[in-house]
Amino acid sequence: MRSSRNCIAMPVHTSTPKEITKHIRQLIAKVAPGRDAKYLAVRPQDGAKVNECFPNVEAKISHAGGRMLCGWQIWEWPYVLVEAEFHAVWVSPEGELVEITPKQHGEETILFVPDPALTYAGLAKDNVRVAVRDDLLVHHFIRVSEEIVKVMNRGDRAGQYGYVSVPAHEFEPLRNAQAFLVHSISTGLRDHSPCLCGSGRKYKQCHSRDFSL
Ligand SMILES: [Zn+2]
Repeated sequence: MRSSRNCIAMPVHTSTPKEITKHIRQLIAKVAPGRDAKYLAVRPQDGAKVNECFPNVEAKISHAGGRMLCGWQIWEWPYVLVEAEFHAVWVSPEGELVEITPKQHGEETILFVPDPALTYAGLAKDNVRVAVRDDLLVHHFIRVSEEIVKVMNRGDRAGQYGYVSVPAHEFEPLRNAQAFLVHSISTGLRDHSPCLCGSGRKYKQCHSRDFSL
């Protein structure tokens, strides 16, 4: 199985948060303490690709000057979680921050936390997530997602750039667990609801035991 890790794509449709909630402030305190989030308009550069912010900004600098500014793009899965994605924007020679990377679902603004202490060295950082509600399905989704990135970075793979090949036996059980949890959460189930597998038991007394890692 080949999987891109230039961007750690979410298997669900997250969007730009409409406001800076207490959970977003908790998330910022984890990834970039003391930094401020700002909304930036998306102004896609011709030829720029979705999810490829680092090459996009490097290409822009090569013909227009300016510099790269790294930080975190904040995403929200409403009522489920908020997420910080390692991200870069372009700073024009005049010092304006510009989001030049187009968005998969057409977002017109992003919420960005600049962190000048961060630089891009060819490897992505894992997304950081904070649960918006206290539910085992959400906590397990976050843990399984973190485990997937660990598997992708295991051993020799840590030194590989871009696409990595991961043996199916390491990857599939985690991907299946992630899909099960996404489906459960998207269907509106809670950890005290009947488990998605149809056993008749509550999730927390059924598949919860397999997914608590
Ligand atoms: Zn079950």
